[in-house]
Amino acid sequence: CDANGRVISAPIIAPINVPEFDCSRMDGYAINLDYLNDIKASCLKLGAAIYAGEYESIHSEVGAVESLATPVMTGSLLPQGTNAVVMKEHATVEGDELKINQQVLKRQNIRYAGSDIKQGQSVLRLHHVLSVADLGLLSSLGLAQVDVYRKPKVALVMTGDELVTPGKPCKKGQVFDSNSLMLTKLLQQIGCEVKVLKTWVDDQVLIDNQFKLLKSDCFDLVISVGGVSMGDKDWLPLALQSNGEVLFHKTHIKPGFPLLFGKLGSALYFGLPGNPVSAFTTLFQFVYPVILCLNKLDKQTPLIWRAELLQDFSKKHLKREFVRGRYNITSEGKVEVSLCGGQQSSRVKSLAEANCFVVLNESQQDVKQGERVSIQPFNQLSYLGD
Ligand code: AMP
Ligand code: MG
Repeated sequence: CDANGRVISAPIIAPINVPEFDCSRMDGYAINLDYLNDIKASCLKLGAAIYAGEYESIHSEVGAVESLATPVMTGSLLPQGTNAVVMKEHATVEGDELKINQQVLKRQNIRYAGSDIKQGQSVLRLHHVLSVADLGLLSSLGLAQVDVYRKPKVALVMTGDELVTPGKPCKKGQVFDSNSLMLTKLLQQIGCEVKVLKTWVDDQVLIDNQFKLLKSDCFDLVISVGGVSMGDKDWLPLALQSNGEVLFHKTHIKPGFPLLFGKLGSALYFGLPGNPVSAFTTLFQFVYPVILCLNKLDKQTPLIWRAELLQDFSKKHLKREFVRGRYNITSEGKVEVSLCGGQQSSRVKSLAEANCFVVLNESQQDVKQGERVSIQPFNQLSYLGD
């Protein structure tokens, strides 16, 4: 069960046939149709029953199975020499005989060995993400273990003098840390092993030292939150520059504009802006595609739907904007989306109300009710998790 949501690192080849033996598809009677046709009758003597899980040879002394109607259950091994199963509903027992009331066809109600899956057949391709149904499939093949890629190792750290852990007293001027839990769960949902580090205060020396330590660590990804903007105590860009490599700083998106990205030792580094909506948005838009790549799912692109906008929205800038929205699929199958109130990046409530982003591209300006817009459902972020 640990394999649920994991990415397989080797294709799965069926080690056995499924079913492994010819068996009955129904509760009924196994017969030899050729024998029945030869004697031109619709009655056969009843044999001893074969139950699912039993082996036929225990009944071999009963007599020539070909001339008998052998009671069988769904999944029972098919007696040698029989070639059809009559459904229980299509026959009547009269004393020690079975009277067949309906026409029977050869091979009827039989699951032949390998008819579902043939031994040697490829059943799951490399880099497939295992679903619960796949676990059922693997179990049907008798496989208790499969090879999967290891989860990307992620270090996550909050930064900010003002942050207080929920549950602890919060003085005037301080704020509760609303990112740790949300981002940890989100990263776990998309298949990461997350280590949350102790929050960093906005101290240049401390942050620089922490970068030095992280540089020689073995994380695939280091994610810090906060301290990447223009504030006097936003030390993260400088710390990355001194200890690693800045690949880009600042983007043309809203929210999340001050995002920082680079390399730190052998890890990739993301410095997300601290406002919870900005942090969530940049994680979805930038970190998620990287995690897909780390999971060998580089051909996967985040899902985008088209939806009808239910209200006007004013956009006067030339950035790409990710507006929090709530989509609904009507009983006619139409996808419509309304916008969540209070779009400021500090409003976690708008995020909690939303179930998607409405994506307005750089060149897009005011959008009107009834227009079709692109949306990105949030629930796609859960498929790598278990
Ligand atoms: P920063 O990105 O550090 O400039 O922070 C921008 C705003 O987000 C400030 O108002 C911070 O107090 C707030 N903020 C930063 N980190 C968090 C957090 N973990 N939880 C809640 N608010 C935060
Ligand atoms: Mg800060």
